[in-house]
Amino acid sequence: MTGVLARRTAAEHLVAADAHSAHNYAPLPVVAASAQGAWITDVDGRRYLDVLSAYSALNFGHSHPHLLAAAHDQLDRVTLVSRAFQHDRMAEFCSRLAALCGKELVLPMNTGAEAVESGIKVARRWGYRVKGVAPDRAAITVAAGNFHGRTTTIVGFSDDPSARDGFGPFAPGFRMVPFGDAEAVRASLDADSVAVLLEPVQGEAGVVVPPAGYLAEVRRICDEAGVLLVADEVQSGLGRTGRTFACEHEGVVPDLYLLGKALGGGVVPVSAVVGDADVLGVLDPGSHGSTFGGNPLACAVGCAVLDLLEAGWPQRRAAELGERLAARLEALVGHGLTAVRTTGLWAGVDVDPALGTAREVCKDMMARGVLAKDTHGATVRLAPPLVISEEDLDHAVDVLAEVLRLRSVPAQR
Ligand SMILES: *Cc1c(COP(=O)(O)O)cnc(C)c1O
Repeated sequence: MTGVLARRTAAEHLVAADAHSAHNYAPLPVVAASAQGAWITDVDGRRYLDVLSAYSALNFGHSHPHLLAAAHDQLDRVTLVSRAFQHDRMAEFCSRLAALCGKELVLPMNTGAEAVESGIKVARRWGYRVKGVAPDRAAITVAAGNFHGRTTTIVGFSDDPSARDGFGPFAPGFRMVPFGDAEAVRASLDADSVAVLLEPVQGEAGVVVPPAGYLAEVRRICDEAGVLLVADEVQSGLGRTGRTFACEHEGVVPDLYLLGKALGGGVVPVSAVVGDADVLGVLDPGSHGSTFGGNPLACAVGCAVLDLLEAGWPQRRAAELGERLAARLEALVGHGLTAVRTTGLWAGVDVDPALGTAREVCKDMMARGVLAKDTHGATVRLAPPLVISEEDLDHAVDVLAEVLRLRSVPAQR
């Protein structure tokens, strides 16, 4: 019986998965069976170059041997005790992650959305207990075009109709301003304000990099107003932009870092809120928690991820390969692309609508063995694993260029 199942073709897997999984995604029709580095092999033995990296959760590539070794080793010892007891991997993970961030305390959680939710709770409690905001008045300023996850509080302050429709009523306490406009942040703040919550680079929005000086100006505005700056680096952090944190490009240190995705190395979900004791210290026993947050397996994999980041090569590689990627993509503007935005090894490219949608371009790329993901209709997002070779990176761009060229010849569409 299992032999029969194992021999399902990709097409059969797709039909079977569609029958019993909720339809909250429309995946490209590839069925992975194994993966290594930047390459995925499907159930029929076809190989695909992965230039999405699970939205940067796979910054270090699939099956990184150091991360897998740490996971295997920990699996045989202890994987979960809950936070009711302590375990022998917690201290190392939290102290090393705090040091990487230049902060004092770490709150370990699991998913990115939980890190964001936790950051919101910490900022509000800080507002009441430290800043002295009147009860239930705390306001958090957020940016238009944001993506911070999928919980009801978080989608309540999204401006993406597809993320919100049918999920209200939503939590109050959020003020939205245009992304990239520091004066709008200043104008949004008053005595009730406790935090400004931003992605330093908006990933889901299409790799939107704010104007130079924006983050530094928002930092100054927060300091003047006595408001926390909370940086959602779930996607932008941990090497993707060529630095450990995207905030570093402007010398900005937020009051809270929200981390996730790559923190678990693509092996297990690991997220965290990182800050100093005068902020994160507002949490006391019983005020917040998570059954799985900071479990031994997560901490072991997280420590192995920290080994890689402390060595510095992922950040360097993102910076080096990123220059190459940017130069090659910019040459395609006017040749099927209308705009290119890049930072580190991360790009959002806008497809000329005359050639089709970004989704159609991704399907064409898949047919040629390269897996990328569209966002917001016209944008293809490229975020290859930082371990990708120069040749493979060039190949991905060659395939994109070929797809765009063929689409500009109507007869071949
Ligand atoms: C992906 C993402 C999240 C949510 O992470 P999940 O693990 O999917 O809950 C939050 N913030 C940003 C910036 C993200 O890119």
